[in-house]
Amino acid sequence: MAKSKAEKPTGSCNCIDQVNAQLRGSNAKLSQGLQIDFKTGKSSMSPPMLVAEKIDSKIKKRLPSLLCSFCPFCGSKYPE
Ligand SMILES: [Zn+2]
Repeated sequence: MAKSKAEKPTGSCNCIDQVNAQLRGSNAKLSQGLQIDFKTGKSSMSPPMLVAEKIDSKIKKRLPSLLCSFCPFCGSKYPE
């Protein structure tokens, strides 16, 4: 079982892991993207993303994803 493990976005907290572990029972996980550092070529998970809602549901346009700058669970700042 060689599951490629992407590095966490932060060294300061592991709330995301803990929340994901709790959500697993509901077949759910937090929205995260994969970030690639072009200098090192390393991939890491992005901070969690907020889900935007459409104001006018008739407009068919992709919603932007909003990255959190701080941990939504404990308030730790994520690195830039
Ligand atoms: Zn946290």
